[in-house]
Amino acid sequence: MEKILSEDALLQFRRLTAEAQHIVICTHVNPDGDAIGSSLAMKKYLAREGKNVEVVVPTSFPDFLKWMPGASEVKVYAKHEEEMSAVIKEADLFLVADYNAPSRLMGMEAAVIANPAPKIMIDHHTDPADFCQVVVSRPDMCATAEVWCHLLDQTGELDAISHDEAVCIYTAMMCDTGAFTYASSRPAVYECIGKLLACGIDKDKIYRNVFWTASPARMKLMGYMLYVKMDVLTQMHASIMTLTNSERRLFGIKNGDTEGFVNMPLQIMGMRLSVFLAQDTEHPDVIKVSLRSVDDFPCNEMAARFFNGGGHKNASGGRLQCSMDEAVETVKKAIRAFESLLK
Ligand code: 5GP
Ligand code: MN
Repeated sequence: MEKILSEDALLQFRRLTAEAQHIVICTHVNPDGDAIGSSLAMKKYLAREGKNVEVVVPTSFPDFLKWMPGASEVKVYAKHEEEMSAVIKEADLFLVADYNAPSRLMGMEAAVIANPAPKIMIDHHTDPADFCQVVVSRPDMCATAEVWCHLLDQTGELDAISHDEAVCIYTAMMCDTGAFTYASSRPAVYECIGKLLACGIDKDKIYRNVFWTASPARMKLMGYMLYVKMDVLTQMHASIMTLTNSERRLFGIKNGDTEGFVNMPLQIMGMRLSVFLAQDTEHPDVIKVSLRSVDDFPCNEMAARFFNGGGHKNASGGRLQCSMDEAVETVKKAIRAFESLLK
């Protein structure tokens, strides 16, 4: 497999992890499968090396990830602010997993930045900010967990990982590729999968654990969203869907229950862009924007220009502080601005 660290970076990685005793692994706000899976895999690796390791995430993560080995040990900063601030203050090394800038930590940012301990970034987002001593940033890779898998291979430890570590890495890669339906055509992805399967993981069960765990409420909301709320702009090959908190209450659904909704309109033939607008559950004046595209349409450019966000070419996000109606107008404006790439 490909060597992803320079000799110097590998030495630094080994030295920093060897010297550290209290390691904190942090990931981005609203952690997804890759954020949780890669963080847990890193934790298991470092724990095997005898380190004291905590995974601290800014906000809670969806129920469909709670079965993952070690998930119950993940600490949510927003729920235990005082206790976690102390843990972060004591850390002598940070792993920056699946995010590229401190701002992605939201409420946790100040606490992490206040600690001058070294930081190692393991990530696959573009434009890594300059705040880490070692940066392993690979936007060409499908998931942070893939970056981690290559790193383990390079350190010679991939063959020694536990079954649980393999489950975490596989789950993370599966989540960030829509079960290997996008961003996953590089042969190296399957080299990783081959190694993980050799650890005896049950990939079909992992798939069911993540994707076939809907509540009845989620299925009903999905039907409502497609029937009532999906606005297909046929000429533009784009679709807009919106969800308000009162609709959430009406269907009795929780946060993670809308995961993946943004992908559904892309099943329409010829569709290039799907935009999903969801009112924030805690800050009703904030609209969370999710963008998904196929082929070359650059969601991240649209997110950066119109939605105070960014992300990957085919999967990006951002946020707007306005009403839902105003957010829809902004989306329509953005779509018109990118008309030449959509029509
Ligand atoms: P989602 O739609 O699942 O919330 O986000 C998809 C992707 O867009 C994330 O993996 C992340 O890379 C990016 N993203 C989401 N929200 C933001 C944001 O507010 N700022 C930036 N820079 N990227 C975001
Ligand atoms: Mn990721």
